[in-house]
Amino acid sequence: MSIPKTAPLQEKLAGMLRDWSIPKQLSGEDVFGSAAESEGSRNLRPRLEEADKIGTSICPYCAVGCAQLVYAKGNDIIHIEGDPRSPINQGTLCPKGAATFGWANNPNRITTVKYRAPYSTQWEEKPLDWAMERIAHLVKRTRDETFVPKLPDGTIVNNTLAIAELGGATLDNEENYLIKKLCAGGLGMVWVENQARV
Ligand code: SF4
Repeated sequence: MSIPKTAPLQEKLAGMLRDWSIPKQLSGEDVFGSAAESEGSRNLRPRLEEADKIGTSICPYCAVGCAQLVYAKGNDIIHIEGDPRSPINQGTLCPKGAATFGWANNPNRITTVKYRAPYSTQWEEKPLDWAMERIAHLVKRTRDETFVPKLPDGTIVNNTLAIAELGGATLDNEENYLIKKLCAGGLGMVWVENQARV
């Protein structure tokens, strides 16, 4: 029942009597239908009514790999819940997985990086694009300098032992697939690991 706090007492009492189920039941209204309704409950809408797309994903937090349904309106995620079709989680999510929506939509999410130049004692705030450019440049340079096509005995290895990759548990299935493809298949890196497996 939504009655403004400033409404006069008479108006509040009228609203209570209108929505109170006992007088409605005594007057013969359906106990499980209209007698149980109030102005507030009549105006309630299903929380996913506005979703125009439902996608599937995997919870990014741990190696259990619970399946999720992701509800979106336009390009915005509006809700994430467990997928009941999954034999792993059967529609459930633990508290961490159930908080995925808050992680994806957090206005406090950090979008810049902290950078400390070689030999410097000061951290600098840098844009993410700047960091990505720098990482790409350093990876390419290191890979070019250290790539080993063959061992001295002629064994073909096509790898570099100079770069390692450690993924975080918030990387999803698809991102991990691409990272493995890029690092191991594309760059020849040997040490490709993920925190979720450590
Ligand atoms: S919902 Fe919980 S148990 Fe399932 S994958 Fe996510 S963190 Fe792991």
